[in-house]
Amino acid sequence: MANCGQKNKWISEQACVSMAHTCNLYCLYCHNPPDGKRQDPLKTAALIKTAGVKAVSLEGGGEPTAGTDFFNWIKALKAAGVKNFMLSTNAVALSDRAFCRKAAADIDFFTVNFPSHRAEIYAKVTRSIKFQMALKGLANIKAAGAEEKLRFFHIISSENYRQLPEFALWTAANFPRAAFVNFTFVRNKGRALKAPGIVPRYTQVSPFIKLALANLKLKGRKAVVQNMPLCALEKFEGFSFEFQRWRRGDRVLEDGIAPKARRPACSRCSLKPACCGARPDYLKVHGGGELKASQKDLFSITPERF
Ligand code: SF4
Ligand code: SF4
Repeated sequence: MANCGQKNKWISEQACVSMAHTCNLYCLYCHNPPDGKRQDPLKTAALIKTAGVKAVSLEGGGEPTAGTDFFNWIKALKAAGVKNFMLSTNAVALSDRAFCRKAAADIDFFTVNFPSHRAEIYAKVTRSIKFQMALKGLANIKAAGAEEKLRFFHIISSENYRQLPEFALWTAANFPRAAFVNFTFVRNKGRALKAPGIVPRYTQVSPFIKLALANLKLKGRKAVVQNMPLCALEKFEGFSFEFQRWRRGDRVLEDGIAPKARRPACSRCSLKPACCGARPDYLKVHGGGELKASQKDLFSITPERF
Protein backbone atom coordinates (compact mmCIF):
# COMPACT_ATOMS: atom_id res chain seq x y z
CA MET A 1 0.00 0.00 0.00
CA ALA A 2 1.14 3.53 0.59
CA ASN A 3 4.64 4.71 1.04
CA CYS A 4 4.22 7.06 3.98
CA GLY A 5 7.84 8.06 4.18
CA GLN A 6 10.78 6.72 6.10
CA LYS A 7 8.90 6.68 9.40
CA ASN A 8 6.47 4.11 8.03
CA LYS A 9 8.83 2.36 5.65
CA TRP A 10 7.54 -0.99 6.95
CA ILE A 11 4.26 -0.41 5.09
CA SER A 12 5.82 -1.04 1.69
CA GLU A 13 7.75 -4.02 3.06
CA GLN A 14 4.93 -5.85 4.82
CA ALA A 15 3.87 -9.41 4.02
CA CYS A 16 0.22 -10.31 3.49
CA VAL A 17 -0.98 -12.90 5.96
CA SER A 18 -4.09 -14.49 4.56
CA MET A 19 -5.64 -15.63 7.83
CA ALA A 20 -9.34 -14.89 7.41
CA HIS A 21 -11.56 -17.86 6.67
CA THR A 22 -15.06 -16.54 7.26
CA CYS A 23 -16.95 -13.26 7.14
CA ASN A 24 -19.74 -11.49 8.99
CA LEU A 25 -20.98 -9.69 5.84
CA TYR A 26 -22.01 -10.97 2.40
CA CYS A 27 -21.02 -8.17 0.06
CA LEU A 28 -22.37 -8.14 -3.47
CA TYR A 29 -18.99 -7.11 -4.88
CA CYS A 30 -16.75 -9.38 -2.78
CA HIS A 31 -14.00 -10.46 -5.15
CA ASN A 32 -12.28 -12.73 -2.66
CA PRO A 33 -15.01 -14.47 -0.65
CA PRO A 34 -14.09 -16.80 2.23
CA ASP A 35 -13.70 -20.51 1.58
CA GLY A 36 -13.89 -21.63 5.22
CA LYS A 37 -10.39 -23.12 5.21
CA ARG A 38 -8.43 -22.25 8.35
CA GLN A 39 -4.71 -21.67 8.33
CA ASP A 40 -2.65 -22.67 11.33
CA PRO A 41 -1.29 -19.51 13.06
CA LEU A 42 1.72 -21.37 14.44
CA LYS A 43 2.72 -22.80 11.05
CA THR A 44 2.37 -19.38 9.39
CA ALA A 45 4.28 -17.74 12.23
CA ALA A 46 7.14 -20.22 11.77
CA LEU A 47 7.37 -19.30 8.06
CA ILE A 48 7.27 -15.59 8.94
CA LYS A 49 10.06 -16.05 11.46
CA THR A 50 12.24 -17.96 8.97
CA ALA A 51 11.71 -15.24 6.37
CA GLY A 52 12.57 -12.52 8.91
CA VAL A 53 9.35 -10.63 8.22
CA LYS A 54 8.74 -7.79 10.67
CA ALA A 55 5.53 -6.26 9.28
CA VAL A 56 2.31 -7.94 8.16
CA SER A 57 -1.08 -7.12 6.75
CA LEU A 58 -3.83 -9.28 8.24
CA GLU A 59 -6.33 -10.09 5.52
CA GLY A 60 -7.54 -12.99 3.39
CA GLY A 61 -10.71 -14.26 1.79
CA GLY A 62 -13.07 -13.00 4.46
CA GLU A 63 -12.90 -10.85 7.56
CA PRO A 64 -9.89 -11.34 9.88
CA THR A 65 -11.82 -10.39 13.02
CA ALA A 66 -14.78 -12.68 12.31
CA GLY A 67 -12.97 -15.84 13.43
CA THR A 68 -12.48 -16.69 17.08
CA ASP A 69 -8.72 -16.90 16.62
CA PHE A 70 -7.92 -13.24 15.83
CA PHE A 71 -5.85 -12.50 18.94
CA ASN A 72 -4.17 -15.93 18.75
CA TRP A 73 -2.85 -14.86 15.35
CA ILE A 74 -1.48 -11.62 16.72
CA LYS A 75 0.12 -13.44 19.65
CA ALA A 76 1.74 -16.05 17.38
CA LEU A 77 3.01 -13.44 14.92
CA LYS A 78 4.41 -11.22 17.67
CA ALA A 79 6.23 -14.23 19.10
CA ALA A 80 7.68 -14.77 15.60
CA GLY A 81 9.15 -11.27 15.64
CA VAL A 82 6.47 -9.23 13.87
CA LYS A 83 6.50 -5.61 15.03
CA ASN A 84 3.99 -3.86 12.77
CA PHE A 85 0.44 -4.88 11.93
CA MET A 86 -2.02 -3.61 9.35
CA LEU A 87 -5.58 -4.93 9.55
CA SER A 88 -8.06 -5.07 6.66
CA THR A 89 -11.48 -5.11 8.26
CA ASN A 90 -15.13 -4.18 7.83
CA ALA A 91 -15.11 -2.86 11.45
CA VAL A 92 -18.23 -4.83 12.46
CA ALA A 93 -16.42 -6.81 15.20
CA LEU A 94 -14.82 -3.57 16.39
CA SER A 95 -18.28 -2.50 17.60
CA ASP A 96 -17.30 -4.42 20.73
CA ARG A 97 -15.47 -1.68 22.58
CA ALA A 98 -13.18 -3.98 24.58
CA PHE A 99 -12.27 -5.94 21.44
CA CYS A 100 -11.52 -2.72 19.57
CA ARG A 101 -9.40 -1.31 22.38
CA LYS A 102 -7.40 -4.54 22.61
CA ALA A 103 -6.89 -4.56 18.83
CA ALA A 104 -5.88 -0.89 18.78
CA ALA A 105 -3.01 -1.67 21.15
CA ASP A 106 -1.38 -3.85 18.46
CA ILE A 107 -2.66 -2.57 15.11
CA ASP A 108 -0.72 0.22 13.39
CA PHE A 109 -3.31 0.81 10.67
CA PHE A 110 -6.96 -0.19 10.32
CA THR A 111 -7.95 -0.35 6.64
CA VAL A 112 -11.72 -0.26 6.90
CA ASN A 113 -13.86 -1.47 4.03
CA PHE A 114 -16.87 0.83 4.45
CA PRO A 115 -19.01 0.98 1.29
CA SER A 116 -21.45 3.68 2.32
CA HIS A 117 -22.29 6.21 5.00
CA ARG A 118 -25.95 5.75 4.06
CA ALA A 119 -27.70 2.89 5.84
CA GLU A 120 -29.86 1.85 2.88
CA ILE A 121 -26.92 1.60 0.46
CA TYR A 122 -24.76 -0.18 3.04
CA ALA A 123 -27.58 -2.74 3.60
CA LYS A 124 -28.00 -3.37 -0.11
CA VAL A 125 -24.30 -3.73 -0.89
CA THR A 126 -23.32 -5.80 2.15
CA ARG A 127 -26.66 -7.66 2.31
CA SER A 128 -26.64 -7.16 6.05
CA ILE A 129 -28.26 -5.18 8.83
CA LYS A 130 -24.90 -4.35 10.40
CA PHE A 131 -24.58 -0.71 9.39
CA GLN A 132 -24.91 0.54 12.97
CA MET A 133 -22.32 -2.00 14.14
CA ALA A 134 -19.83 -0.87 11.50
CA LEU A 135 -20.45 2.76 12.48
CA LYS A 136 -19.89 1.84 16.14
CA GLY A 137 -16.68 0.07 15.14
CA LEU A 138 -15.45 3.25 13.45
CA ALA A 139 -16.45 5.30 16.49
CA ASN A 140 -14.63 2.86 18.77
CA ILE A 141 -11.43 3.21 16.74
CA LYS A 142 -11.69 6.93 17.34
CA ALA A 143 -12.52 6.48 21.04
CA ALA A 144 -9.48 4.21 21.41
CA GLY A 145 -7.30 7.15 20.31
CA ALA A 146 -6.55 5.46 16.98
CA GLU A 147 -8.27 7.82 14.50
CA GLU A 148 -4.93 8.56 12.82
CA LYS A 149 -4.58 4.82 12.21
CA LEU A 150 -7.81 4.74 10.20
CA ARG A 151 -7.77 4.33 6.43
CA PHE A 152 -11.07 4.25 4.60
CA PHE A 153 -11.29 1.68 1.81
CA HIS A 154 -14.32 2.53 -0.32
CA ILE A 155 -15.17 0.21 -3.19
CA ILE A 156 -16.83 2.12 -6.01
CA SER A 157 -19.79 0.23 -7.47
CA SER A 158 -23.01 0.99 -9.34
CA GLU A 159 -24.74 1.20 -5.99
CA ASN A 160 -22.70 4.02 -4.47
CA TYR A 161 -20.85 6.03 -7.13
CA ARG A 162 -23.36 8.90 -7.17
CA GLN A 163 -22.71 9.42 -3.45
CA LEU A 164 -18.90 9.59 -3.71
CA PRO A 165 -18.70 13.39 -3.18
CA GLU A 166 -21.06 13.13 -0.21
CA PHE A 167 -19.08 10.21 1.23
CA ALA A 168 -15.88 12.24 0.97
CA LEU A 169 -17.45 15.09 2.95
CA TRP A 170 -18.84 12.64 5.51
CA THR A 171 -15.38 11.17 6.20
CA ALA A 172 -13.85 14.65 6.49
CA ALA A 173 -16.57 15.80 8.91
CA ASN A 174 -16.65 12.70 11.10
CA PHE A 175 -13.07 11.43 10.94
CA PRO A 176 -11.00 14.54 10.25
CA ARG A 177 -7.82 12.90 11.53
CA ALA A 178 -8.13 9.67 9.50
CA ALA A 179 -4.98 8.82 7.54
CA PHE A 180 -6.66 8.86 4.11
CA VAL A 181 -9.48 7.65 1.90
CA ASN A 182 -8.78 5.01 -0.73
CA PHE A 183 -11.43 4.75 -3.44
CA THR A 184 -11.11 1.51 -5.39
CA PHE A 185 -13.06 0.70 -8.53
CA VAL A 186 -14.91 -2.61 -8.16
CA ARG A 187 -13.41 -5.69 -9.82
CA ASN A 188 -15.68 -7.98 -11.79
CA LYS A 189 -14.47 -11.08 -9.95
CA GLY A 190 -15.72 -13.49 -7.29
CA ARG A 191 -19.26 -12.70 -6.18
CA ALA A 192 -19.39 -9.59 -8.37
CA LEU A 193 -19.78 -11.96 -11.32
CA LYS A 194 -23.15 -12.95 -9.88
CA ALA A 195 -24.33 -9.37 -9.40
CA PRO A 196 -25.36 -8.07 -12.82
CA GLY A 197 -24.91 -4.33 -13.13
CA ILE A 198 -22.61 -3.95 -10.10
CA VAL A 199 -19.75 -2.66 -12.32
CA PRO A 200 -20.46 0.92 -13.48
CA ARG A 201 -18.84 2.52 -16.50
CA TYR A 202 -15.68 4.58 -15.96
CA THR A 203 -17.39 7.49 -17.69
CA GLN A 204 -20.34 7.31 -15.30
CA VAL A 205 -18.08 7.37 -12.26
CA SER A 206 -15.60 9.94 -13.53
CA PRO A 207 -17.42 13.21 -12.59
CA PHE A 208 -18.37 11.88 -9.16
CA ILE A 209 -14.93 10.59 -8.22
CA LYS A 210 -13.36 13.87 -9.31
CA LEU A 211 -15.74 15.84 -7.13
CA ALA A 212 -15.05 13.49 -4.20
CA LEU A 213 -11.29 13.93 -4.60
CA ALA A 214 -11.67 17.69 -4.89
CA ASN A 215 -13.82 17.76 -1.75
CA LEU A 216 -11.17 15.91 0.22
CA LYS A 217 -8.36 18.07 -1.10
CA LEU A 218 -10.27 21.23 -0.16
CA LYS A 219 -10.72 19.82 3.33
CA GLY A 220 -6.99 19.14 3.55
CA ARG A 221 -7.49 15.35 3.60
CA LYS A 222 -5.41 12.77 1.75
CA ALA A 223 -7.07 10.59 -0.88
CA VAL A 224 -6.19 8.14 -3.60
CA VAL A 225 -8.08 6.27 -6.32
CA GLN A 226 -7.18 2.77 -7.40
CA ASN A 227 -8.07 0.60 -10.40
CA MET A 228 -9.29 3.47 -12.59
CA PRO A 229 -7.48 4.30 -15.84
CA LEU A 230 -5.80 7.69 -16.06
CA CYS A 231 -7.98 8.73 -19.01
CA ALA A 232 -10.99 8.45 -16.68
CA LEU A 233 -9.23 10.79 -14.22
CA GLU A 234 -8.27 13.59 -16.58
CA LYS A 235 -6.89 16.57 -14.59
CA PHE A 236 -7.01 14.37 -11.45
CA GLU A 237 -4.32 11.87 -12.47
CA GLY A 238 -2.16 12.86 -9.48
CA PHE A 239 -4.62 11.04 -7.20
CA SER A 240 -4.07 7.70 -8.96
CA PHE A 241 -2.60 4.98 -6.76
CA GLU A 242 -0.92 3.34 -9.76
CA PHE A 243 0.54 6.68 -10.85
CA GLN A 244 1.95 7.07 -7.32
CA ARG A 245 3.50 3.58 -7.56
CA TRP A 246 5.07 4.45 -10.91
CA ARG A 247 6.45 7.70 -9.44
CA ARG A 248 8.24 5.88 -6.67
CA GLY A 249 9.64 3.22 -9.01
CA ASP A 250 7.38 0.29 -8.03
CA ARG A 251 5.63 -1.92 -10.53
CA VAL A 252 2.37 -0.19 -11.44
CA LEU A 253 0.21 -3.19 -10.57
CA GLU A 254 0.57 -4.91 -7.22
CA ASP A 255 1.26 -8.62 -6.87
CA GLY A 256 -1.79 -10.80 -7.45
CA ILE A 257 -3.53 -8.23 -9.66
CA ALA A 258 -4.56 -9.35 -13.17
CA PRO A 259 -2.53 -7.66 -15.92
CA LYS A 260 -4.00 -4.83 -17.93
CA ALA A 261 -5.82 -5.63 -21.16
CA ARG A 262 -4.12 -4.71 -24.43
CA ARG A 263 -6.11 -2.00 -26.17
CA PRO A 264 -5.30 -0.02 -29.33
CA ALA A 265 -5.84 3.29 -27.48
CA CYS A 266 -3.32 2.27 -24.80
CA SER A 267 -0.63 1.45 -27.33
CA ARG A 268 -0.79 5.10 -28.56
CA CYS A 269 -1.00 6.65 -25.09
CA SER A 270 1.79 8.55 -23.33
CA LEU A 271 0.29 7.72 -19.91
CA LYS A 272 0.58 3.97 -20.39
CA PRO A 273 3.65 3.40 -18.16
CA ALA A 274 1.85 4.81 -15.10
CA CYS A 275 -1.66 3.60 -15.83
CA CYS A 276 -3.50 0.52 -14.52
CA GLY A 277 -5.28 0.37 -17.89
CA ALA A 278 -8.61 -1.32 -18.23
CA ARG A 279 -8.79 -4.82 -16.88
CA PRO A 280 -10.03 -7.82 -18.88
CA ASP A 281 -12.79 -8.26 -16.28
CA TYR A 282 -14.04 -4.72 -17.01
CA LEU A 283 -13.86 -5.11 -20.78
CA LYS A 284 -16.07 -8.20 -20.58
CA VAL A 285 -18.85 -5.99 -19.22
CA HIS A 286 -18.40 -2.65 -20.97
CA GLY A 287 -15.79 -3.06 -23.72
CA GLY A 288 -12.96 -0.60 -24.27
CA GLY A 289 -14.70 2.21 -26.18
CA GLU A 290 -14.27 4.71 -23.34
CA LEU A 291 -10.46 4.61 -23.29
CA LYS A 292 -8.81 7.67 -24.81
CA ALA A 293 -5.14 7.89 -25.73
CA SER A 294 -3.40 10.93 -24.26
CA GLN A 295 -0.29 12.84 -25.32
CA LYS A 296 0.20 14.40 -21.89
CA ASP A 297 3.71 14.35 -20.45
CA LEU A 298 3.63 12.05 -17.40
CA PHE A 299 6.26 14.20 -15.70
CA SER A 300 3.94 17.21 -15.93
CA ILE A 301 1.47 15.53 -13.56
CA THR A 302 1.74 16.67 -9.96
CA PRO A 303 1.28 13.85 -7.46
CA GLU A 304 -1.27 14.60 -4.77
CA ARG A 305 -0.57 14.11 -1.05
CA PHE A 306 -0.72 10.44 -0.13
S1 SF4 B 1 -15.84 -7.71 0.74
FE1 SF4 B 1 -14.86 -8.07 2.73
S2 SF4 B 1 -16.49 -7.66 4.22
FE2 SF4 B 1 -17.50 -7.96 2.26
S3 SF4 B 1 -18.02 -10.16 2.17
FE3 SF4 B 1 -16.00 -9.93 1.18
S4 SF4 B 1 -14.54 -10.29 2.82
FE4 SF4 B 1 -16.52 -9.86 3.80
S1 SF4 C 1 -5.71 5.00 -23.07
FE1 SF4 C 1 -5.05 3.21 -21.95
S2 SF4 C 1 -3.01 3.75 -21.14
FE2 SF4 C 1 -4.00 5.66 -21.79
S3 SF4 C 1 -4.92 6.45 -19.93
FE3 SF4 C 1 -6.51 5.25 -20.99
S4 SF4 C 1 -6.35 3.19 -20.15
FE4 SF4 C 1 -4.49 4.30 -19.59
